[in-house]
Amino acid sequence: MIPTELKFLGQTITVHVDNDLLTEREKQIGVDPDRMCCGIASESDLDIRLREGMDPTRERRVFIHEVLHHIDDGFGIGMDERQIHTLSTGLDLMIQGNPDLAGFLVQRRS
Ligand SMILES: [Zn+2]
Repeated sequence: MIPTELKFLGQTITVHVDNDLLTEREKQIGVDPDRMCCGIASESDLDIRLREGMDPTRERRVFIHEVLHHIDDGFGIGMDERQIHTLSTGLDLMIQGNPDLAGFLVQRRS
């Protein structure tokens, strides 16, 4: 289940899942909905929007990708899309390959 809210740096990021990720501009210029992106992170609106109906692997990686955009913005890192994409894939592979990892990290918080 995708979380509907994420706490980060004292703020709350809202997560939405829907089928309409086209921006008004994309609608005006007639972008094909089948070619639209799978996720959008808006640092100004403090939200993440995910396309509905993705397969589980793609959904996890798009979710991590959009979370990384917020982390990147929050810390002013300046990663490009390739770096964010590679890191999201790597984090997903690490977590999926080590199912106890997430639980361990949560237990070890002080
Ligand atoms: Zn991106």
